[in-house]
Amino acid sequence: MNVVHTINDLKAQLAAFRSSGCSIGLVPTMGALHAGHASLVRRSLMENDVTAVSIFVNPTQFNDKNDLAKYPRTLESDCQLLSTVADEVAATKGCESNIVVFAPSVDEIYPEPDTRQFSYPPTDTVMEGGFRPGHFNGVCQIVSKLFSYAEPTRAYFGEKDYQQIAVIRRMVDDLKLNLQLCPCPIVREADGLALSSRNTLLTPDERQTAVGISQTLFKSVEYAKSHSLAETKQWVVDTINAIEGLEVQYYEIVDGLSLQSLTDWTDADNIVGCITVFCGHLPVRLIDNIRYK
Ligand code: AMP
Repeated sequence: MNVVHTINDLKAQLAAFRSSGCSIGLVPTMGALHAGHASLVRRSLMENDVTAVSIFVNPTQFNDKNDLAKYPRTLESDCQLLSTVADEVAATKGCESNIVVFAPSVDEIYPEPDTRQFSYPPTDTVMEGGFRPGHFNGVCQIVSKLFSYAEPTRAYFGEKDYQQIAVIRRMVDDLKLNLQLCPCPIVREADGLALSSRNTLLTPDERQTAVGISQTLFKSVEYAKSHSLAETKQWVVDTINAIEGLEVQYYEIVDGLSLQSLTDWTDADNIVGCITVFCGHLPVRLIDNIRYK
């Protein structure tokens, strides 16, 4: 496994593979890696000859400077986890796993401010887009840069950030990028809580409380079978808000592609509920989602 810190080194490493016809997988991350990230890396290693994993806490997607400051940064243990995943996959495939870790500085990525504006409404204006102005513009800035450095055959993103995939799908279409977007299912703790780097900021008590989010979403699938969409939405919000230490910021039940809010279960074939909840004393902002159809 090679760790590089500059764009030139990343390009040089990948060029060597590309010139011999190898496929390239890209897994963009902000580090503090856990089993959710590992699932993306594992899949990329299985499906490609070489995998580039970027580890970069991208400042332009944080609209809250405090959130940026407290975001965990753990490069050494991240590399250990990646090396373990690489060994596991190598044993399964019976050949070497090639990983290039790209861990650049902020100056390397943004030697000058990125003034590009991306706009893909409604995917980037609803939900997270409304509550975190500029967030998806920052996501598009960094992801488009990573795409141009790595020129991946396939790029892997987790459905935990459901809206992010919808926005990036629009960007890939818009820029006519020649790559395959690969959404990967949410990895959860045994009790159901979606794995997140932010979970490490919860106290043990808050961690117990946080499970109420996924438990409520799971139960809502059953509830939805005998209730209207509006009733289900209200039930999820009320049930989570009744748990001490949790406060729903929004819950929207949307069309899974356009992310447009729905009013009836029959309005779309692909229906997803997306939630953001504040948890605990900091508080920590947790997101999750559930598929109804
Ligand atoms: P992040 O480091 O939070 O920016 O996440 C990097 C990638 O890992 C994104 O595509 C996330 O959606 C994905 N990811 C994060 N947590 C999970 C999870 N629990 N299950 C699946 N993918 C995840």
